[in-house]
Amino acid sequence: MLKLSMSINVLPINLRNKIAAGEVVERPASVVKELIENSMDAGSSRIDIDILKAGKRLIRVSDNGIGMDRQDALLSLERYTTSKIKDEDDLFNIKTMGFRGEALSSIASVSRMRLTTAQRSDARAHGSEETNENNNIGTCIEMAGGGNIELRDCMSIGTSVEIKDLFFNIPARRKFLKSDSTENYHIIDIVTRGAISRYDIGFVLRIDDSETMNLPASSSRRERLLQIFGKDFVDGLMTSESEDEQMGISIFCGNNSNFRNNRNNQFVFINNRPVRDQTISYAVYKAYEGLIPKDKHPVFLIFIEMNPQKVDFNVHPAKREVRFEDKSRVYNFVYQAARAALKNAEEAAYAAGEEASVNHQWTGMSLPAYFAYNHPDAVMCGQQAVSEASPFYDLYSSTESMPCIYLGDTFVAMPDKKGLVLMDYHAAHERINYERLLKGSEEGSGHGSKVASYRLLFPQQVKLQAGEYMIVLENLKYLNELGVEVADFGHGAVIVRSLPDFLRDADLNALISDIAASLLNSDVRLKQEKALESLESIDSKKKTIAAKLACHSSIRGREIPDGVRAAALIKDIEKTENPDACPHGRPTRIFISMAELKKMFKK
Ligand code: ADP
Ligand code: MG
Repeated sequence: MLKLSMSINVLPINLRNKIAAGEVVERPASVVKELIENSMDAGSSRIDIDILKAGKRLIRVSDNGIGMDRQDALLSLERYTTSKIKDEDDLFNIKTMGFRGEALSSIASVSRMRLTTAQRSDARAHGSEETNENNNIGTCIEMAGGGNIELRDCMSIGTSVEIKDLFFNIPARRKFLKSDSTENYHIIDIVTRGAISRYDIGFVLRIDDSETMNLPASSSRRERLLQIFGKDFVDGLMTSESEDEQMGISIFCGNNSNFRNNRNNQFVFINNRPVRDQTISYAVYKAYEGLIPKDKHPVFLIFIEMNPQKVDFNVHPAKREVRFEDKSRVYNFVYQAARAALKNAEEAAYAAGEEASVNHQWTGMSLPAYFAYNHPDAVMCGQQAVSEASPFYDLYSSTESMPCIYLGDTFVAMPDKKGLVLMDYHAAHERINYERLLKGSEEGSGHGSKVASYRLLFPQQVKLQAGEYMIVLENLKYLNELGVEVADFGHGAVIVRSLPDFLRDADLNALISDIAASLLNSDVRLKQEKALESLESIDSKKKTIAAKLACHSSIRGREIPDGVRAAALIKDIEKTENPDACPHGRPTRIFISMAELKKMFKK
């Protein structure tokens, strides 16, 4: 049996540092992160990063910043030594990337380190009279595992920190490192995030002697994004900016056709610090709700500047997370800004319908891609897809208000002042019904529902699976608010008494079980987001139900629109908040500008 000993030891410094290093230095990329942050704090305009063998053999970060004199260089390697904060007040008013004073000492304790630095002449603040000649010479310090310090003079411009044999003295940690390509991926990710946050600094990253990134200092955020992501990506981003007395925000986000299957293209910076934050990403997802499919992820870059007193950066040893003084304020601020960005794009597209490039912003996808998206089975060849998959129906109907052509059983084509509008009739209908439902339930909140509904002549019983039954009972209130009057009938069944009137001929079994399934899915999604259930989950559940209801109405109502209906549809869709996408995020309409048509006909 394990013998317990009650005697307490004070841990030797070296061991303390190794323990601390466990938190700060997880992998080579974390070393890169700490070192480039130090270089940023030192006022550098260029940072070079050299990596050999995924950082397991060598990590070298060199900068042209203010550097250190010998005394500081020696001090910097000790634990809790920093030039960035002095007292508690400073801790809650942080303006630098670093402040914990533990990176260099931690890294030094788990590697062989060489620090080369010289203080820049303009940084020698404390009276040049005192400066003896030796101070002009730089310092080189070498150490292994945080000990065996060797010191010598050397020439240097700025600071260079060289880390060899990371974790050589903690074999267990070394074993945990992943393959070279994975570790390199993390390093590139860190440098990318650093480069996005500081477009004014030049970055060069060399991996195994080949230049992986070379980003000259640039003059704007957009320019830096162009350097990193290329023109196509950046052109597909929508932007918005806003500020109030405490915060400023600048958002770049993908339009409703620019989404991904993962979250890799999501970046959040607070006061230039790359962070992960549930509140912020949740707010953005919320803004996209109903605009992109549920299992997809939007692309976004968010830059927030805020009063450092309103945010605590000292939450995570690697400073990846933050804590806001007023979380819901930040949430709302980000949500509004993201909504504005999504709206800006629509307006810009309309205002400048003449310009093909703006139209590109609106649709974000080429025409063939759009059709492929709507019709995975259709021939992937643009306009041809229309004619082959959907022969013209002789339903051209001209009214004074809206001549239209009905293509197949889905699309309506209509002339627009500035070009041609192609509308997915059912998707547009879904969007209109969806917003009507939500609006009706909002207006009636607290006093039943204001959704126009009709009473079934014979209330209908619907039998559900156990899981569905449970979730429907949990959400009776929201169903009722949305005009679906439904009550528990016991033994796994519910009874439906009334429905929104556009659902007159809906299949109730399918409808209710479909709603249950989507509520289950949205629950899973909420849990994945792990965030803010109290703030937004009610709203989100209602939206989920409304989307399902709207979708059933459209599946059922296979009416063929004539000119009058098309005109009404155009009017109604225009009045919705998000006219460009159905509640599931699929496009409702595509606009082809005159300019684009001319281009297609090579005019
Ligand atoms: P922190 O960054 O939290 O202050 P570090 O251990 O990373 O702690 O660095 C300790 C100190 O060493 C810094 O406060 C800074 O004064 C100095 N320092 C580190 N890296 C550099 C650099 N590249 N150029 C100039 N000074 C540096
Ligand atoms: Mg630091």
